[in-house]
Amino acid sequence: MTPTTWVLVVFGVLVMFLLASFTNVVIDRMPRALEEPNQYGELWDTRTWGEVVSGRSRCSSCGAEVHWYDNVPVLSYLLLRGRCRACGEKYGAFHVLVELAVPLVAVLVTWGVVHYQGWSWVLLPYLFLVPVGTALSVIDLRTLIVPTRIIWPSAAVMAVLCVVAALAEGEPTWLLGVVMGVVAFAGPLFLLWFIVPTGMGFGDVRLATMLGLPIGLAAMSTGRSFGWAALLAAMCLLASSVIGFAIAIPGLMVGNRKVPFGPALVMGTLLCVTLAEPILAAFG
Ligand SMILES: [Zn+2]
Repeated sequence: MTPTTWVLVVFGVLVMFLLASFTNVVIDRMPRALEEPNQYGELWDTRTWGEVVSGRSRCSSCGAEVHWYDNVPVLSYLLLRGRCRACGEKYGAFHVLVELAVPLVAVLVTWGVVHYQGWSWVLLPYLFLVPVGTALSVIDLRTLIVPTRIIWPSAAVMAVLCVVAALAEGEPTWLLGVVMGVVAFAGPLFLLWFIVPTGMGFGDVRLATMLGLPIGLAAMSTGRSFGWAALLAAMCLLASSVIGFAIAIPGLMVGNRKVPFGPALVMGTLLCVTLAEPILAAFG
């Protein structure tokens, strides 16, 4: 790697730590517990973005403001041993996991793409998916909802980033594959939801709509025709199902029948966009 690349990587990792902090804020504040289930049988609603970004960080137990020096990613968690400085209440361990996972997954995705395809603008939408997908996954695991307040703005940004990536690479026809990715990834889930609405929430269909965009882009970026975007989407559905079952098994063992599928879709997508080249190469 050249010195310029090193600077880029170090800067990128620092940005990812900041995004991870913001991811935790969204995870903490976006879901709002309901007194009783709404008409969809959900136990959670969401707060507006205005409510999410306004106000200081507070301890959810005693309400004390969290000072900036107690809000340094990972370090503060270790120094305070995961407790509030004021009341000693333990914070959820997922905070520090998110702070570590976001930069780590971003580095792995970058490494995979650069290893198989070289530096490419397609990294832009993939890296955007890391904090967004983490927020959606943790919220889905905690509340079984996939907030539309996150999905639709993220899908819009994702679409723009896919266009930017295709144009910056001088390959506007990649956008055909992006559309194909959405149809081939969200389409089967939509049919499944349409036929067996109780089996899966519509939130997963919305999530798949956003995830289909980078999947289609990933297939095209390997230099193949847009039919391959459908194949990569199919492989991604397969990978997500396997991951979904792996996540579901502990839940099924304790008798909890409701299992979130969102985290599996996000993980399957990150895996398939990063390894698009070797996966498609296996088919010729
Ligand atoms: Zn406290």
